[in-house]
Amino acid sequence: MQYFTNIKRSMMSVLEGMAVTFSWLFRRPYTVQWPDKIPEPLEKTLPATYRGLLEVDTRICTACLACEKACPIEVIAIEVDRNSETKERHIVRFDVDAAKCMYCGLCVEQCPTDAIHHTTLFAATTPDIGDLVLTFIKPGERALPFKPKDAPPAAIERGAITQALLDSRRGVE
Ligand code: SF4
Ligand code: SF4
Repeated sequence: MQYFTNIKRSMMSVLEGMAVTFSWLFRRPYTVQWPDKIPEPLEKTLPATYRGLLEVDTRICTACLACEKACPIEVIAIEVDRNSETKERHIVRFDVDAAKCMYCGLCVEQCPTDAIHHTTLFAATTPDIGDLVLTFIKPGERALPFKPKDAPPAAIERGAITQALLDSRRGVE
C-alpha cells in the first residue's frame, strides 16, 4: 500500500512542478535578451559608480605611480623614462591587465587627478587572454606627465578610451 502512496505522491509532485512551469508560458518574461534586444546599450544604463573595466586618461596622468603601488596584485604596469640630461620624464608604458584585475577600486582611490577610473564597460570576451592587457600607451609612444597647475584638457566621455582599445582588438573600425 505504501508503494502506491509513494507513486501517487511523486506524480502529484511532478504535476505541481509542471503546473508552475507551464504557468510561465503565459506571463511576461523577466529575462532580457542581451546584447541585441535591448533599447539602449546596457553599459549606458549602469550607475556611474559601477566598477567596470578600468580606463586611463594619460593626458591627465601625473606619473606619480600611486595607482601601481596601491594595486595589491600587480595589475598595473607603468614605466617612466627620465632623460638624464634634460631631466624630462615621459610615460612610456601604462598597461592594465583586465583579466587579472579584481575591480576593487584601490588604484582609483589613490589617483590625484582621476586619470585612472572605472567605466561601466564589462564585455571584453576574447579568445586570447593576452588581449585583455589594456595598453594605454602604445609601444613607442611617449606621454608627458600632466602638471596639476596646468589647465586640464577637454573631458572625454567615460569609457571612450577603453572602448576604442577593445574595438581595435576586435578589428572594429
Ligand atoms: S581595481 Fe584593484 S585589482 Fe584592479 S588594478 Fe585597481 S587596485 Fe588592482
Ligand atoms: S593614473 Fe593617477 S595614480 Fe596612476 S600614475 Fe597616473 S596620476 Fe598617478
